[in-house]
Amino acid sequence: MIALVPVRAGRLPLGGAEAVAEAGGRALLVGDGTVEAAVELTGVASDVRTWEQAGFSPGAWSAVLGPVLRGEDVVILPNAPDGRDLAPRLAYALDLPLLAGAVAVRNDGATVARQGGLIMEDIVVDGPFVATLQPGVRGAEADPALEAPVPQPLDIDQPREAGVDLSGGRAVDAEVIEVIPPDPATMDLSEAPRIVSGGAGLGSKATMDVLGQVAEALGCSAGGTRVITDWGWLPFERQIGTTGVTVHPELYLAFGISGAVQHVAGLGDPAHVISVNTDASCPMMSLADLAVVTDAPALVAELARRLEVDQPGAEHD
Ligand SMILES: Cc1cc2nc3c(=O)[nH]c(=O)nc-3n(C[C@H](O)[C@H](O)[C@H](O)COP(=O)(O)OP(=O)(O)OC[C@H]3O[C@@H](n4cnc5c(N)ncnc54)[C@H](O)[C@@H]3O)c2cc1C
Repeated sequence: MIALVPVRAGRLPLGGAEAVAEAGGRALLVGDGTVEAAVELTGVASDVRTWEQAGFSPGAWSAVLGPVLRGEDVVILPNAPDGRDLAPRLAYALDLPLLAGAVAVRNDGATVARQGGLIMEDIVVDGPFVATLQPGVRGAEADPALEAPVPQPLDIDQPREAGVDLSGGRAVDAEVIEVIPPDPATMDLSEAPRIVSGGAGLGSKATMDVLGQVAEALGCSAGGTRVITDWGWLPFERQIGTTGVTVHPELYLAFGISGAVQHVAGLGDPAHVISVNTDASCPMMSLADLAVVTDAPALVAELARRLEVDQPGAEHD
């Protein structure tokens, strides 16, 4: 097995390290800043090859990488935007089946989530295949005994061997005109780097609405617990947890959330957690780097005032 991970500006995509862990530590990094990105695989990867490429050309890359990857039994890509673009083109170039959105990959197939995760289907494949792995499900535990990988540049004259002109030639690729950062208010929560989240302790939908505006003013995405999505304070696709979205933020701010296991199980491994709660000993406060014991609606109102956010109808002192 090998993970094929598209890289941008020296950073792995969401789920990049997990794809490498799932592939047993073998990785081929492609894109811009591959050697810097390889550092993020310390403890996870044992064998890293790199193919440094400017821009993103999934059609041309697939045509070149097809022959390079032909001997592999399984090629795993992260199911993040670039991986999703590259995987079907690579599967076509290799003439192999693609198992998209897998939650686990094996040598003989994969478990794939269907109908938004309601059904798990085990697919057995007789022969090699390409798979995309859903970020945030398998994790990538670092092995402290594993040293930082020493990336080896891919040693082929790709355009000549594959008969592909990377400047346009034979492969069909969309032209990237501009890369626009996602809007935190509407982006997929599973890819959001900073999340402000609300729970029952907010006391009202009006306060959750203001918290949403506070999140926007801070450049964060808004999420919440199942209790408040059941109450209609937030749309269901903003629910975080086992029966909602699995998230992977660097920063998670929890307002009035108890930290039930079904919620926390969907949190990934945030680098920083801030929790605001009147109960100093609830699980969410134990998880937090910064635990603020105070009234959440009052703090939301104060943040809104300082950030000059409108707060019509919010209930607070
Ligand atoms: C099968 C199953 C699946 C589930 N899936 C999910 C899921 O995907 N996601 C999910 O979130 N839940 C899920 N749940 C529900 C989960 O068990 C909890 O009930 C839920 O997460 C609790 O949400 P909460 O923290 O908003 O509410 P509560 O547990 O009621 O906590 C409210 C918190 O607010 C605090 N509080 C109260 N007043 C204030 C105040 N004025 N200021 C500050 N803090 C205050 C309280 O101290 C408390 O800690 C699931 C449950 C089941 C059985």
